[in-house]
Formats: sequence, structure tokens, C-alpha cells
Amino acid sequence: MPMQGFECNACGVSFEDMIAESPEQEVEIKCPQCGGKDVVRSETASEFLELLNEMGRTGG
Ligand SMILES: [Zn+2]
Repeated sequence: MPMQGFECNACGVSFEDMIAESPEQEVEIKCPQCGGKDVVRSETASEFLELLNEMGRTGG
């Protein structure tokens, strides 16, 4: 199963969870930190991490 990045609107934590391959099957994603269900998909999670790395390299 593919991994999908999520972000919690309640506490702002980012996490990854497995999602079902069929989009019709709705799954309840819960925040691992606060247990809230108010989470959104973060499509650019990996890109954001790369950006942080780039910033780390140029900083100095
Ligand atoms: Zn949360």
C-alpha cells in the first residue's frame, strides 16, 4: 500500500499513513499525536523536506 503524507489541523503535526489503493474506500485517518480526525493530505511533504535540506546547505 502506498504511503500518504498528512498534516493535522488541530496540532499541526505532520505524519505518514497508509492509504487504501481504491479512492472510493474512505478511510478515517487519525492524528497519531492528538487523535484528531481533522487532518489534510500534504502532497508536498517530501518536497518540503528537500527544500529544508537546500536551505541548510546554503545557510552559513
Ligand atoms: Zn493532531
